[in-house]
Amino acid sequence: MAGLTAAVTLARAGARVAVHSDRPGRVGSIAPSSEVPDWRIERGASSVTYRADAVFRLAAQVGLGRPGEPGSAWLQMGPSAKDRYVADGERLRSVGPGLIGFRHAADFARGLVRHRAPSDTESIITWAKLQFGPWIATSPARAFTVGVWGCAPDKVGFADAWPELWQGLQTGSPMAVQRRMAGDGHTLTGTWFLAEGMGMLPAASRRALLDAGGRWVEEAVTSLDALDVDVVVVATDASDAADLVRPGNPVAAGLLDAVEHSPIAVVHWLAEPQDRPLGFGMLVPAPDPVLGTVFLSDVRDQFSAPWAPDGLRAYQTMVGGHAHPEYVDRSDAELITDVLARHARWFGSAPVVRAAHVVRWKRAVSIPTIGHRARIRQLQAGEGRVVYAGSYMAGGTLDDAVVSGFDASTRVLARMPA
Ligand SMILES: Cc1cc2nc3c(=O)[nH]c(=O)nc-3n(C[C@H](O)[C@H](O)[C@H](O)COP(=O)(O)OP(=O)(O)OC[C@H]3O[C@@H](n4cnc5c(N)ncnc54)[C@H](O)[C@@H]3O)c2cc1C
Repeated sequence: MAGLTAAVTLARAGARVAVHSDRPGRVGSIAPSSEVPDWRIERGASSVTYRADAVFRLAAQVGLGRPGEPGSAWLQMGPSAKDRYVADGERLRSVGPGLIGFRHAADFARGLVRHRAPSDTESIITWAKLQFGPWIATSPARAFTVGVWGCAPDKVGFADAWPELWQGLQTGSPMAVQRRMAGDGHTLTGTWFLAEGMGMLPAASRRALLDAGGRWVEEAVTSLDALDVDVVVVATDASDAADLVRPGNPVAAGLLDAVEHSPIAVVHWLAEPQDRPLGFGMLVPAPDPVLGTVFLSDVRDQFSAPWAPDGLRAYQTMVGGHAHPEYVDRSDAELITDVLARHARWFGSAPVVRAAHVVRWKRAVSIPTIGHRARIRQLQAGEGRVVYAGSYMAGGTLDDAVVSGFDASTRVLARMPA
C-alpha cells in the first residue's frame, strides 16, 4: 500500500509513474483471496481504527469515501460485535467491549529489564521515551500491533508513553493491565472495515493510478540500475529493500537489515455455530503460541457480509509471532490440529469444524528495534535517486504504510526536475 499511495499521489501531481509488482493478478499484499471454494478469506489486514487518518484520506481520494459519509465503502463494527475475551488459563474470560489487549505485558516487563542497560525504572522510562514513546503514543493501533502480534515486546519501549501499562506491568499480570487500560478508557472502538474487504483499497488505488495515466507492470524488479527512471521508490518490506539496494548502497542495506519481522501464520476455519462466545474475538496471553482469534462472522455479520457459507461461522486465528517463530514452521495439518485443540479447551467443547485453511506470512509485521527511528532518519538522509517507503518506516500497520507512501511522494517531488 505504501507504493500504491506514493504512485497515485505522484501520478496525480503530474509525474510519469510505473508500478512494478511481483505478484501477478494480486494488487497489494493485503488483498483478500477467494481461493477456498464458497468461502472467502481475508489474507491480511482486515480493519483499521478510527485513528487511521492516512488510510481514510487515501480511500477518499480513490473514490471509496470517508467513514460516515453517505455512499462510503466504510463500515463500522456494530455494538454487538464488541465483546472481547482473553484466554485465562483453560477458559475464556470476557474483558468487556472495545478493549486493547496487551498479550505480552508480563513478557514485556521481563524483556525490557533483561534487555536494557539501565536497571532502575526511572532510567528505563527515560530510555523508552527517547526510543519509542512517541511512536506508540500517537496511535492505539500501534500499541495493538505491538501487543497482539507478539512484536518483540522486549525491544520496544513504551513505558513512558503508556504509564498505565507500565504500572500494570509491575504486577506482572496481563489481566491487570487489561483491566487498567479498560478503566482508563483505552479502546479500539471505532474499528472500520471496507465493505468488500480491505482489498478494495489497493484495487481502487490501482484504478486511480491508471486513470491518472500511470502504468502497472506485473514484473518483479531484480536490479534498480536496470530501471531507466529519475527516481525509484522502493516500497517492499525492509528485507526485500535491503536485497535490492545492497549492490549500490551497502550502508542503506545495513540499515534495512536491522529491521526485524515477525512470522505469522493465519489459520482460517469454518465451524458450526454451536454455543460459542460472540464478539470481536479473543487474545491469548503468552507463552501460548496462539496470539488470538477474530470471530470473523460475528464481526462481518454486522454488515451482512458473505464471509462464510450459510449456517457456518468463520474464525481467523493468528499464531507464531516474535515469541514463537518456530511454531509457524509446522505443517498445515499440525497447525490446524493444535489450534483447534486449544480452542476446544477455551470454548469448553470441541468446535465442529467443516474446513480449515492456513495462510503463512514469513515476514508478517515489522518490528521496530532499539535505535529504529535514528536508523530510518539516516536512511532518508542518504536518499538520492532511491527513495524508501513501507509500513516498517513508520510502524507496522496499514495506516503506517499509507503515511509512509504520502511521505515518500513528498520527498520524490522535492527531487524531481522542475
Ligand atoms: C495477516 C496480517 C494481518 C494484518 N492485519 C492488519 C490489520 O487488520 N490492520 C492494519 O492496520 N494492519 C494489518 N496488518 C499490517 C498491514 O497489512 C501491513 O503493515 C501493510 O499492508 C504493509 O504495507 P506495505 O506497503 O509496507 O508492504 P506490502 O503491502 O507488503 O507491499 C510490498 C509489496 O512489494 C512487493 N515486492 C517485493 N519485492 C518486490 C520486487 N523485487 N519487485 C516488485 N515488487 C516487489 C510485494 O509483493 C508487496 O506487494 C496485517 C498484516 C498481516 C500479515
